Amino acid sequence: MESPNPSEPARKVCNTNRHQNDGEDCIGTDRNRLSTVRGRRKWGLTKRGAPSLINHVELPFQSSLILNHPNFLLSFMLPVSRAISRIPSITKTTRHFFSKTNTMAPLSKTHKLNTGDEIPAVGLGTWQSKPGQVEKAVEAALRAGYTHIDTAYAYGNEKEVGQGIKASGVPREKIWLTTKLDNDWHKHVAEAIDTSLKNLDTPYVDLYLMHWPASLVKGNTKEVYNDWDFVDTWREMQKLVDTGKVKNIGVSNFGVKNLEKLLSAESTKIVPAVNQIELHPGNPSPHLVEYLRSKGIHASAYSPLGSSDSPLYKLNSLTKLAESKGKTVQQVLLRWGVQKGWSVLPKSVTEERIKANIDLEGWSLTDEEIAQIDEVHKENSFKVCGDDWLPVKIFFGAGDSD
Ligand code: NAP
Repeated sequence: MESPNPSEPARKVCNTNRHQNDGEDCIGTDRNRLSTVRGRRKWGLTKRGAPSLINHVELPFQSSLILNHPNFLLSFMLPVSRAISRIPSITKTTRHFFSKTNTMAPLSKTHKLNTGDEIPAVGLGTWQSKPGQVEKAVEAALRAGYTHIDTAYAYGNEKEVGQGIKASGVPREKIWLTTKLDNDWHKHVAEAIDTSLKNLDTPYVDLYLMHWPASLVKGNTKEVYNDWDFVDTWREMQKLVDTGKVKNIGVSNFGVKNLEKLLSAESTKIVPAVNQIELHPGNPSPHLVEYLRSKGIHASAYSPLGSSDSPLYKLNSLTKLAESKGKTVQQVLLRWGVQKGWSVLPKSVTEERIKANIDLEGWSLTDEEIAQIDEVHKENSFKVCGDDWLPVKIFFGAGDSD
């Protein structure tokens, strides 16, 4: 395992264990798997033929009343925009103009979980926020309208998160708070949640996640228990639901193989509400995402911007798309994640960015634009979090977590 080097925070290996990595989560050496930008897809016309414009626009004209309706422009422009984009001979400028008038699908502010609870679509990430920054970031986020904060025992910042919540003045019941069970607490679930609740100064969390499917020996995080694994841990986590200390339980960093094992275990009575996994255009994990959908498990996207020093910010296809929408690349990345049905957890300690990252309403990505972003990984695949730093294998390759 490459040893984490505290002097190079952006190059640390994936490691959520505070004992090994000073409370930090994971920044991957896998970043160097980013392939060079080549063969970029040009802003292209679809290969489909031009559909009849008449069919698309006749509806708005059926009543003159509609012409006075505030939505008229939108209802007219939307079908025209779609039709135009399919005409091969249309000029780039005209396409560009119409691309700005595309669908205004409302932003899903929440996603429904298999428990019936609604998880807010955008949450503030707090990993790698330095001590002293987290409280202010949490306070700024809650004041800016965030209702969802993501933390973990391993980040070593639960206390500050709790202080930020208090400082914001936002009532606790208006906030979705997620924290995570650390790897070397798997045999001590009841004690672990009590410790986190005390740190956060709250009587309950909305979501408690098993941070990694890795049951590490307490005090020796280089070893796994040989008489305990994540199935045992889940059995203990299920008991928390009746205590009122956690509203929902879920997992994180689980691929298909480990989920199959968990779901088929006799002791498993509760299907995880959430699997928090790395999701961004460089690692869209379509197989895992589809598997989660089929099992009714919500996908929550960590590192949705590609994490620190994200290579996504400079990708031509994304910068051009963002420019054409009058948005930042970060907003496009987040809107893409939310439209795909995920909750997204952008981390920032910068107030303007915190505000911008939740400003995702009043515009949307078209199906074509979503499909274009879906393709990014084909030329620009990278993963922030690997499992090299753990003494147990977590990710099993094709079809498991990709
Ligand atoms: P991320 O949210 O993808 O990216 C964060 C980086 O982007 C920071 O360097 C931040 O800088 C920068 N940034 C944020 N908004 C920006 C904007 N509008 N413009 C320019 N730069 C911007 O990375 P992440 O922290 O890896 O992931 C997000 C959260 O997911 C974590 O904080 C954590 O809560 C969770 N997570 C969970 C796991 C897990 O194992 N379950 C693993 C990784 C992450 P500044 O802060 O300096 O503004």
